Amino acid sequence: MAAGKSSGHGRVALVTGGMGGLGETIATKMVDAGYRVVVTYSPGNTKHREWVAGMKDNGYEITAVQCDVADMDSCARAVAEVQNKVGAVDILVNNAGITRDMTFKKMDKVNWDAVMRTNLDSLFNMTKQVVDGMVERSWGRVINVSSVNGSKGAFGQTNYSAAKAGVHGFTKALALEVARKNVTVNTISPGYIGTKMVTAIPEEILNTKILPQIPVGRLGKPEEVAGLIIYLASEEAAFLTGANIAINGGQHMQ
Ligand code: NDP
Repeated sequence: MAAGKSSGHGRVALVTGGMGGLGETIATKMVDAGYRVVVTYSPGNTKHREWVAGMKDNGYEITAVQCDVADMDSCARAVAEVQNKVGAVDILVNNAGITRDMTFKKMDKVNWDAVMRTNLDSLFNMTKQVVDGMVERSWGRVINVSSVNGSKGAFGQTNYSAAKAGVHGFTKALALEVARKNVTVNTISPGYIGTKMVTAIPEEILNTKILPQIPVGRLGKPEEVAGLIIYLASEEAAFLTGANIAINGGQHMQ
């Protein structure tokens, strides 16, 4: 389990929202692949110590730092802590995100702002802390987790779709700026993945409304998303930058 197999070469990977449904699998699979992994947890997360201890019991040494990705100062403090405890960040996975779904008619500014700040401002706040170091060391990977709904839109998600579409604009522009320095910047856009968030949807709705939209006929697995992220973090992916990779079982083809 712990580091060793080593496509990761002991590089430091920072996964925001690494205790969440997708983030946890990304974190453990990255440890398996030989990365030194740090996750962030939000200030409201009261279970972070148990999470770290549980991981340790299962053979996963994962460092956790508190961070509100919507807050620039909090991100600066968190990355300084990572630097002190583990080292400079080589791979940043901007994974933390929230939804606040409602029709545009009902949507107020609070729920618009919360989603924009957590899903989009967070890219500025976190990437700003690490990208100069990547450029100086001439190696780095920034992997931004968007969503199929950033590409195709979704009823009740004007905030989320706008933020997730913005993610890829950020990716493309930054990819251009750092390409010569061996730093790649990519977006992944998952469809429905079988995390707690999605499996909590009533079975009838899942079976009648969601699964019929997915040609592969099932939800995605967190391991499949983690595998894509590990590929993007690898040496072999050095020529892949500015891309938006859909991983959605054929639900939406761009
Ligand atoms: P979860 O709700 O399980 O996890 C979200 C994570 O984001 C949590 O770990 C949470 O931290 C963290 N987070 C939320 N707000 C903040 C904040 N202000 N500061 C720091 N961390 C925060 O969702 P998923 O794992 O399913 O989603 C992960 C990413 O994948 C998101 O960006 C989501 O939009 C995207 N996605 C997910 C899909 C799916 O089907 N699951 C499909 C498409 C995209 P904590 O637990 O510490 O509070």
